[in-house]
Amino acid sequence: MREVYIRLAYKALKEGIEIVGPSYFSNKLGVSKPTAQEALIKLAEKNYGDYIPKKGFKLNREGIEKAKEITMKHRLMECLFYELGMSPEVACQEATRLEEHVSTELVTQLRLFFSDRKLCPCGNKIEEEFEDLEVEELEEGL
Ligand SMILES: [Zn+2]
Repeated sequence: MREVYIRLAYKALKEGIEIVGPSYFSNKLGVSKPTAQEALIKLAEKNYGDYIPKKGFKLNREGIEKAKEITMKHRLMECLFYELGMSPEVACQEATRLEEHVSTELVTQLRLFFSDRKLCPCGNKIEEEFEDLEVEELEEGL
């Protein structure tokens, strides 16, 4: 599974783009449109969202949950690479390359190690998404 697609779809959603077309991913990831489209169809098959022909991919609730997890993992890895002396940009690139190969055990270790840290090297809240989720659920309950 290409986790980076879920993470980018979530980032787009937070920027107000609900349905993300294959060209968005092909631009950001430097892959062809058919490759991006294939990956998005696979994500829909795994129930992380819907693929709407000629439009693009829309995350569902399960996809959003997954995206939050992946985003946190990405940011923890950025923290690690930043500690190794990389710039925030390079730390982000390396995290993108490696994030989908990281085990749950390593994520747990990173969370413990960086437990006093609130922000990733680019200045985003490491666990910002979980706060957003609470707000979202509250609104739905009203
Ligand atoms: Zn970051």
